[in-house]
Amino acid sequence: MRRFSLVVSILGGTLLTAPLLAQQPVPQAPQAQMPLRCGTVLAANPAGTGIDNPDCDYNQTNPSSIYAPGAILRIPVVVHVIQSTSGQGFLSAARVQSQITVLNEDFGAQAGTAGANGVDTKIEFFLATTDPNGQPTTGIDYITNNTWFQDSGNYWSTTAWDTSRYLNIYTNQASGALGYVPDLPQGGSVLGTTADRVVVYYPSFGRPGTLTPYHLGRTTTHEVGHYLGLFHTFQGGCGGSNCYTSGDRICDTNAESGARFGCPTTSTSCGNLDPVRNYMDYTDDACMQGFTQEQARRMRCTITSYRPALAQPAGPLASATVRNGAGNLNGNFSATPPLLGGTSTLSAITLGTGYSAAAAYGFLGSANTPFAGYTVLVDVTSPQLLVLPFTASAIAVQWQFNVPNSQTLAGLPISTQALFFGSTVAFTNAVDLVLGN
Ligand SMILES: [Zn+2]
Repeated sequence: MRRFSLVVSILGGTLLTAPLLAQQPVPQAPQAQMPLRCGTVLAANPAGTGIDNPDCDYNQTNPSSIYAPGAILRIPVVVHVIQSTSGQGFLSAARVQSQITVLNEDFGAQAGTAGANGVDTKIEFFLATTDPNGQPTTGIDYITNNTWFQDSGNYWSTTAWDTSRYLNIYTNQASGALGYVPDLPQGGSVLGTTADRVVVYYPSFGRPGTLTPYHLGRTTTHEVGHYLGLFHTFQGGCGGSNCYTSGDRICDTNAESGARFGCPTTSTSCGNLDPVRNYMDYTDDACMQGFTQEQARRMRCTITSYRPALAQPAGPLASATVRNGAGNLNGNFSATPPLLGGTSTLSAITLGTGYSAAAAYGFLGSANTPFAGYTVLVDVTSPQLLVLPFTASAIAVQWQFNVPNSQTLAGLPISTQALFFGSTVAFTNAVDLVLGN
């Protein structure tokens, strides 16, 4: 019998206690000429998130092999296309889809594409097919509002889809930049709020865009890199003696003294060639070629640690419906911080042949979302729970379970219960799943 296994581990971490600090981008005034390359502004004193994984926090990176690209992480995307009442800013569905294609080429280093020379991060993107209310969607949200088109007003407060579960991208005038994020997730000023987003100047969104040389979709690749925790390659200039705690907190990106524009492939600084081919520099779209291995690991660490509800496993998920009412034990939710304190790693999802998918894993979320908590218990034979064996210590909690991958189980209704961590372990039966499809 073929099996696949799901391994989740949570390593202990420390709470970040830096004082809260309002941190907003400092948009540049719209310019008559080329917009600012990137409007992402980093606070000198990050706010902190209330959670911290020192392997990929604001201050440092540990590119451990546990973050090496393995299981595919699929991120649902909603693109909010904000246009003016005159229609300025409109983007066709094909144009929006082209941007998703570019993201997948670039993050996947797909052969035969302009991103082929990069590292395959095993991070994928798709236009959301289900909206926050569980209804079918195209993943494209057309909005007409002249103020919001100017990137003014708190448009996100009424338009954002659950930012813990969707990558919210907005296209508009982007405050005079090609794009920006309000903060890295590790900064903590917007994580968990409706303001958590990526904003892209609409002419540079999709492929082809209309703003040469930023017309190949790499503005969004760059900004999503920030959204997943990456700094600019020139962050901190040449940096200090430890490249994991200074500069861009990454060692396999050459340090550079400042941003590079155009495509100066022989440009040197800090004693080495400048990383002008990297998506996190400021070079032309056609110049950029990839992320590095350590950038990939930092992003995957960021997803599992700071955005644990965002990614979905590859392949069709078991379908899920929320069961409310009697039997809902969500009241037992107990998540004494740090629920996500430290590293949470999902690995080794290996699907055999047979039906398309056998399980879903849980995410942190509110009680009425389909996947709450950190894992699922799967009943694959009859109304029976596979209670996950786990051992707990002050350092790590790890468990693993195997699910028979048998065609005969396809479509079998099962019960799942989410497992939460904190000072206690509790269960909820708020979710029902149908195994396979
Ligand atoms: Zn940037």
